[in-house]
Amino acid sequence: MTDPHDGAGASTCREMAEWVSDYLDGDLAASLRDTIDRHRGNCPPCDAFVRTLARTVELIRVHPQEPLSPEQVRALTEALREASLPPQPVTFRPPPALP
Ligand SMILES: [Zn+2]
Repeated sequence: MTDPHDGAGASTCREMAEWVSDYLDGDLAASLRDTIDRHRGNCPPCDAFVRTLARTVELIRVHPQEPLSPEQVRALTEALREASLPPQPVTFRPPPALP
């Protein structure tokens, strides 16, 4: 099986989200970078996620007068991660019946 979302691969997608900021900062060990590069090659959503975040980081660096707080960076990372995941099914709840 080469599907990156199968079995152990699923945790790799989650790990991608955890490692990506260090990856973009160049703070990861070479072996981890290799793991991420390989994963990006097999997993288009993660590749898109890394590209989007890299672009965002680039924009932030271009505008250093408006620094983001660590909380904002975390929220942004989370939002991007959510955006790269398939949408969750929505359960319709009818409003409560009137008395
Ligand atoms: Zn992935």
